[in-house]
Amino acid sequence: MTPDCKPRCPRTGNHPDGSHLRTALDLAAAGVPPLPLRRGKVPFGNCRTCADGSCGGRPNMKSAGPCRCPAPCHAWAAATTDPSVLTSPAWAMAWRQAEAVAYHPGGAGLTVVDLDNAAAVAWARETLPTTRIVPTTRGEHWIFQGAMRSANAVRPGVDVKSLMQYARWLGPGDGHMLALPPAVRALVVKEDTTPARGGVVSSVPARATWDRTVAAGCRHTERYVRTGLERGLAKVRGHAESGAGSQAFGVARFLAAQHAQCPGPCGLDAMGEEIVAAAVLVGVPEPYARRAVNNGLEAASERAT
Ligand SMILES: [Zn+2]
Ligand SMILES: [Zn+2]
Ligand SMILES: [Zn+2]
Repeated sequence: MTPDCKPRCPRTGNHPDGSHLRTALDLAAAGVPPLPLRRGKVPFGNCRTCADGSCGGRPNMKSAGPCRCPAPCHAWAAATTDPSVLTSPAWAMAWRQAEAVAYHPGGAGLTVVDLDNAAAVAWARETLPTTRIVPTTRGEHWIFQGAMRSANAVRPGVDVKSLMQYARWLGPGDGHMLALPPAVRALVVKEDTTPARGGVVSSVPARATWDRTVAAGCRHTERYVRTGLERGLAKVRGHAESGAGSQAFGVARFLAAQHAQCPGPCGLDAMGEEIVAAAVLVGVPEPYARRAVNNGLEAASERAT
């Protein structure tokens, strides 16, 4: 369950001969499913069959499909503890070109609170119980036992990486690993489960915008996503008189469906925020706009699974 293997370099966790495959096999033996990262520390692109979506995606993806591609396609969804897959010819080329090793925390029953910078680390030290900590380039990974839904940017500089996500493997870290505390679960809560805030409903929600940085696992181009999103926002704005709420629902569902085949994350939460903001600007009460958008995003994912 835990990445307790002791790789040789205490800093990177990699074997001194630079063999990412050996690091991966160590992780797999400890029950942690690894995957190779290419230049830029991102997953390898999908093969031709998987790239056009005709494979349908892997069975463990949100939009479960029958893909059994032998290559490390579909990012986190390809991560496996099966040594025969890790050492297969289809993966061998990826390991040779790999620049880093990642793992699928959710697949190992783990959650990584990824703290991007010193301010985020300071926040964690004040707020979260101290668990196993792995130093990263500019911040820290705090690792907890237990899997949960992942979400990017739950606070400035803080991502929660668990199910349907990958995290860089930077060594086993130090400290006793705690069970996932409520404080971490609370970082990722669906909006509609929080009680309605009293007071001003006409205020525009906090600005969150979609960009490539929140969509590491999206297989579409930035231009494609942005164009679709702008078209949807225009639709919502065009219904200032009435029906903007149901437009928001329809636009959210339509946009989310476009990403049914992506390994994710695609930044759907950020897209949702933009739709909520557009609806509020034309007079839809924020709680209603949020519910409409969340329902739209959910409707798309339910249909896909
Ligand atoms: Zn493939
Ligand atoms: Zn595939
Ligand atoms: Zn996508």
